[in-house]
Amino acid sequence: MAETFKLTYATMFNPPEELHERFDEALEAVKARLGQEYGMIINGEDVFAAEKFESRSPANTDVVLGVFQKGTAEDAERALKAARAAFPMWSKMKWQDRVALMRKAIEQIEKRIFEIGAVMAMEVGKNRMEALGDVAETADLIRYSCDMMEKNDGYVVEMGRDPLVGFKSTNYSVLKPYGVWLVVSPFNFPSALTGGPAGAALVAGNTIVMKPATDTPFTVRLLAECFRDAGLPEGVFNFITGPGSTLGQALVDSPLVDGITFTGSYDVGMKIFRDFARGPYVRPTILELGGKNPTIVSRNADLEKAAIGIMRSAFGLQGQKCSAASRVYIEEPVYDELTERLVDLTNKIKIGDPTDRSVYMGPVINQKAYQDFKNFTEELSQAGTFLTGGKVLTDGEYARGYFCTPTLVADLPLDHRLWKYEMFLPITTLARVPNLDRAMEEANNVNYGLTAGFYGTKEEAKWFFDNIQAGVTYANRPQGATTGAWPGFQPFGGWKGSGSTGKNGGGLYYLPLYMHEQIHNLVE
Ligand code: NAD
Repeated sequence: MAETFKLTYATMFNPPEELHERFDEALEAVKARLGQEYGMIINGEDVFAAEKFESRSPANTDVVLGVFQKGTAEDAERALKAARAAFPMWSKMKWQDRVALMRKAIEQIEKRIFEIGAVMAMEVGKNRMEALGDVAETADLIRYSCDMMEKNDGYVVEMGRDPLVGFKSTNYSVLKPYGVWLVVSPFNFPSALTGGPAGAALVAGNTIVMKPATDTPFTVRLLAECFRDAGLPEGVFNFITGPGSTLGQALVDSPLVDGITFTGSYDVGMKIFRDFARGPYVRPTILELGGKNPTIVSRNADLEKAAIGIMRSAFGLQGQKCSAASRVYIEEPVYDELTERLVDLTNKIKIGDPTDRSVYMGPVINQKAYQDFKNFTEELSQAGTFLTGGKVLTDGEYARGYFCTPTLVADLPLDHRLWKYEMFLPITTLARVPNLDRAMEEANNVNYGLTAGFYGTKEEAKWFFDNIQAGVTYANRPQGATTGAWPGFQPFGGWKGSGSTGKNGGGLYYLPLYMHEQIHNLVE
């Protein structure tokens, strides 16, 4: 790959040829070994359960990608105990040595980026560039945590000396890890949203148990192998697989957990928040939840940029990004022209096998999402007008997968419930608004506050930043109206119902969330 090319979600639209060649090679190699069984990894060992489940490709459900373990509550306890046993050693290790080991994990991830990307494209249905971006982001998220630990010199800071006559009284602020950290991740960014929080927890000195979504055990197994092959000691990280409602719940309910990072839906996240609060004291709970991300388009916008940015953010990963542009408020004078451009671009989207380099949209994740799409489009057909899509695809190459068409909906009354509901599918609703103030009022009138986009003049953009209620905000961005965050560039996190900490992942204030402060006062 050209040395100058750095893969991020902002640069992915024009990759060098070599990147495609290496992806194709990796894809062939992965396809040659599909269907194998993989264990969980507990205390450094492969562990197998009595019951298994298959990971199948949503693009072709005849294809079994791998066979995985249906972990039980006993497995959860075993993994947590292994993590607890490893904690004294890991937390007392010099932080420089921990960082060195985590940098080895980054090397492993980067070495296997094409393989993990190929598996993810098949398992999630992500197009190849999105899949590779997810793995590259994982490496950069962990790297960012390592860099922050170094930059802050292990978070040991000398404070003021007490003005005591006749004594020397020093004060130090020391950040220390909590203990065993649970990482529960969603299907849509299986690598970055497992590896990012896991990396931060580990760099900080916690030991971890990570549980991926049931739809994406394969991708996360490969990530766990990177941690193992980097030489992380036994028990420091543990990887378990199984249903959220049983295994996930057993983890959340365990008193052996000292902190949690959950990334997923609002409903599950709020349930975890409440369940976790039943312990004897408050434990840190990092929740990264859903979104209902608005884009506002001013009458002064560059409509070419707006149209491409909205299309990319509405339909990238089939609308299954927490940051997807799912609502668009357009000022009256430019509504017709913008929607025309959007319809043109949307009609050109290629749908199909996500591993094929020319495909932009793959399938949705599973049967439930496919059924949801049918139900929502039925409901929308009664209240609004489809400008594009509204159908599932069932013929030919689409027959064995969960393929939906990119759907733009106009004329939906602004009090319709779906303006506020995260559908998490390739469906975006468009509204005509008389002015920007009205657009802002609608944009903020939801429980979510994850990302938001704007197109207009620079002065209007400032007004947008001043008034929008969201954790990641973008103006005049053709690469994506509401999507495309990167550690160190656009740290990612949400306000209101979209997140619990008010501090974004891959940002300045993230790593300290994984540590509690201790003040050392020594009088000589
Ligand atoms: P989900 O909430 O269905 O599942 C997330 C994880 O929780 C999975 O690993 C699942 O197995 C587990 N789980 C389910 N029930 C559980 C329980 N009772 N106890 C413990 N764990 C349980 O979400 P999903 O469908 O995988 O992902 C999509 C959602 O994630 C969307 O709402 C999306 O907006 C959100 N998301 C948010 C961010 C963010 O950074 N804010 C990023 C990606 C996705």
